[in-house]
Amino acid sequence: MILFKQITDIQHYIEKLHREGKTVGFVPTMGALHNGHISLIDLSKKNTDVTVCSIFVNPTQFNDPKDFEKYPVTIDNDILLLEQAGTDILFLPSVKEMYPGGMELQKPYDLGFVETVLEGAYRPGHFQGVCQVVHRLLDIVKPDKLFMGQKDYQQCMVIKKLIELTGIKTTLVIAPTQREPEGLALSSRNMRLSTDEKEEALAIYQTLKHIKNNFTTTSFTNLAAFATDFLHKEGFSRVDYVAIADAETLAPTDNYMPDKKYVALVAAFKGEVRLIDNMLLN
Ligand code: AMP
Repeated sequence: MILFKQITDIQHYIEKLHREGKTVGFVPTMGALHNGHISLIDLSKKNTDVTVCSIFVNPTQFNDPKDFEKYPVTIDNDILLLEQAGTDILFLPSVKEMYPGGMELQKPYDLGFVETVLEGAYRPGHFQGVCQVVHRLLDIVKPDKLFMGQKDYQQCMVIKKLIELTGIKTTLVIAPTQREPEGLALSSRNMRLSTDEKEEALAIYQTLKHIKNNFTTTSFTNLAAFATDFLHKEGFSRVDYVAIADAETLAPTDNYMPDKKYVALVAAFKGEVRLIDNMLLN
């Protein structure tokens, strides 16, 4: 695996690969890698000639400074996992390298409705920061294919919109959520949970499954209310949302219509750790 820290160096290297007719796959991450990330590397390796991973904990997407400070950093182990997975290139830039002119966003992205709900509503500015960093990374890496996880369902929708808005020539490939055997979605933030908390956090998965089993026969409002109550009873200190929405637009809806696709999404705090998960219902 080749490690680059400077933008010009990785750009030159990738330009050469493109000239040789190689296809490039890209997996952007914030590190603290787990098997969810590695599944994206595996998918990229299967679908492209050269796989690039980036590790950059992007300050501009954290609306909560404490969350940024406490974000886990495990770089030595990350490098080991990426090597084992057969990653070709790791891009590991500093904040200065990524934002030499400062972190201020020059012009906001017009993301429309998708930015106003759920994560967008609870984490103001988050998706602008996500677009800022992904736009910059795509400009640098110029991948043929970009691999992202369904775990961050709304983020995938936002990046699809970013690609439309900018006209960047890359294909977004969305990969399924990797889970612990019992169902807890893998997340870098799980490292901050105790063993007991991890077990209790399973309630999110159970809630999503309950919604999936009942959404054709029960009103969405009742299902969401039941789920929120269940999460509180299972020791979640705060439930930001349990939502059942149109899978294409994230518009809230209340009743099942057979010709529509739906997704259930949850964000809740286990202690200080904010966890998100989702499940496609049909
Ligand atoms: P992050 O490091 O959390 O920014 O995530 C980097 C990429 O890995 C994003 O595209 C995430 O959606 C994806 N990802 C995170 N967790 C999982 C998971 N459990 N399964 C699949 N992909 C994931």
